[in-house]
Amino acid sequence: MFYKLLRSVPLLTAILVICYSYWCFIFLYCDKSLDQQQPLKFCFYHIIFYLFTWSYYKTTTTPPPAIPHDFFLSAATMNKIWDANENCEKINAILSSKAHTLPIYTYSREGHYRYCQDCAILKPDRTHHCRVCGQCILKMDHHCPWLHNCMSFSNYKFYILFLAYGAVYCLIFLSILPVELFKWYMRSKVLEEGLLYHYTLLSISGVLFLAIFSALFFYHLYLVLKNRTTLEAFRAPLFSYGQDKDGFNVGAGNNFIQVFGETKWKWFIPVFCNILYYLKR
Ligand SMILES: [Zn+2]
Ligand SMILES: [Zn+2]
Repeated sequence: MFYKLLRSVPLLTAILVICYSYWCFIFLYCDKSLDQQQPLKFCFYHIIFYLFTWSYYKTTTTPPPAIPHDFFLSAATMNKIWDANENCEKINAILSSKAHTLPIYTYSREGHYRYCQDCAILKPDRTHHCRVCGQCILKMDHHCPWLHNCMSFSNYKFYILFLAYGAVYCLIFLSILPVELFKWYMRSKVLEEGLLYHYTLLSISGVLFLAIFSALFFYHLYLVLKNRTTLEAFRAPLFSYGQDKDGFNVGAGNNFIQVFGETKWKWFIPVFCNILYYLKR
């Protein structure tokens, strides 16, 4: 119970930061600003805020996809694997008849079919067991403690949109706050101490979060275009012909469509449009 609560701390911190930024925008900027274009910025801010929080909500709350039933192994098979004592040939002999009926193209580092002892499954390609979630995750990218969820087949698009809108959200603050401070200064008005404190805090956090969001966004966009997960970028998957970091790469356009779907206007909103991944062979 305590461990569960502890794991929620990063998520709660992130929610508090979002709430704080919203409070600052509404009760400090909108209430005290001298900006003539405030209504326009008010509308734009709320569109981005909505898209940002919607993407955030979908990223954190979308559960990992269920492993198809065909990949499950019986207790008898698991006992045989246990008795095989990690012998590669014996494991392949036990699993080959089932594996041949399934679309499995990758192998473990040891060269046998990939299986999970904890979940009692033959692992589908790109599936990894997450120790935090306690289950195998289809097309696992990584587990994010700040989002309290695994980035996987079911929410990867939402995660990338969250990063993109997060970066734009920071840019809004960074385009407003320094100008506001300058205007107050030029009109020789003394800025309230509280206002100066919040504007400074927001500006520093804005720069930091903008750097984090944009770096992660461009990195994950690169991975999408290459059809690689973060785990595969660190260790290339092993196919029958050897390791190949581009084993799932079917061309930048097709790779993008696999994550973002074919309908262009849906690329910008966090609705599920993934196409089941397929191999180039
Ligand atoms: Zn597992
Ligand atoms: Zn996880």
